[in-house]
Amino acid sequence: MRALITGATGQDGSYLSELLLQKGYEVYGMFTQRATPSTRNVDHLPELKLLKGDLTDQGSIDAIMKESEPDEVYNLGAQSFVKSSWDIPEYTGNVNALGTLRVLDAIRKYSPYARFYQASTSEMFGQVQEVPQKETTMFYPRSPYGVAKLYAHWMTINYRESFGMHASCGILFNHESPRRGEHFVTRKIALAAARISQKKQHELVLGNLDPQRDIGHAKDYVRAMWLMLQQDDPDDYVIATGETHSIEEMVQVCFEYVNLDWKDYVRQDEEFMRPAEVNLLVGDPSKAKEKLSWEPEYTWKEILQEMIDVEMKK
Ligand code: NDP
Ligand code: GDP
Repeated sequence: MRALITGATGQDGSYLSELLLQKGYEVYGMFTQRATPSTRNVDHLPELKLLKGDLTDQGSIDAIMKESEPDEVYNLGAQSFVKSSWDIPEYTGNVNALGTLRVLDAIRKYSPYARFYQASTSEMFGQVQEVPQKETTMFYPRSPYGVAKLYAHWMTINYRESFGMHASCGILFNHESPRRGEHFVTRKIALAAARISQKKQHELVLGNLDPQRDIGHAKDYVRAMWLMLQQDDPDDYVIATGETHSIEEMVQVCFEYVNLDWKDYVRQDEEFMRPAEVNLLVGDPSKAKEKLSWEPEYTWKEILQEMIDVEMKK
């Protein structure tokens, strides 16, 4: 089996590459060759075949599709930071929305039998219309990121219905790991807790501490992506733990783990607040549990503790 992963060098792409290589797949990854290389998440995977390309460039996507001749395509590449999407809304739309359309079209032209996974997101629920959120919950995105991802989500469904493609969307809730980008809140908190406990940083500046997130481990969530493409029929699934915790609770747990009182070190600043906030996310993963026999293995506290342990060693 051959797989193509866009965003192979990101958090999820690296764990998914590991999983597929363990299963004996030949794995191709699209990567954007920047002036400063960003391959550190996959440098330990010499078997991963990295091909240069960009989701804003149809020619490069077509060339990669022809070269890799994939049985499965996982579209994980994205401008994935919600806050930046207000600064670069057009680029976010180009990569996350039109980029997905470009991949779908390359599959239609060159690999029509390849199965397709789209990285949809709980951010599409935004101002939530129902608690907990499930596959049938109405969408109400609250950021250019969420709006772009919703376009990609519906375009995936449209290609499934129009061209009979085996195309599935995973509506994934937040998932974290030691490979999470440093500007995301869990990684930022874990890094700060470790550094402050070792006297290498003196404070942690955050934005809104009230939002609640349903967080899981990226390793558990990439397993769900693979399971979706092993089903006879394509479908859309919520992947979540069903538990939610505020940012303040996450800060408290992390600082307690390094024996510090967070109130002595945390300051809030407008700089990290958003023009529109997503206040509460909590998913109902019943469908994935029933149809995919998927269960998360990590608890939220184990995830945060693993992230701190890794920072401590560094
Ligand atoms: P990351 O930000 O860690 O990885 C994103 C990847 O996309 C990187 O490899 C990045 O490469 C690549 N990329 C960015 N821009 C482009 C471009 N123009 N062309 C090609 N590749 C590009 O994200 P995650 O691994 O955390 O997430 C994977 C996917 O899942 C994303 O689509 C994200 O939006 C979605 N998602 C994530 C959730 C989470 O909680 N982690 C929740 C729900 C959905 P480079 O570094 O070279 O720019
Ligand atoms: P998101 O859920 O994909 O936007 O993931 P983030 O980790 O970026 O943000 C999760 C939540 O933490 C959001 O509600 C943010 O407003 C909140 N938050 C509070 N302070 C910060 C901060 O300093 N950085 C980030 N990234 N988020 C913060």
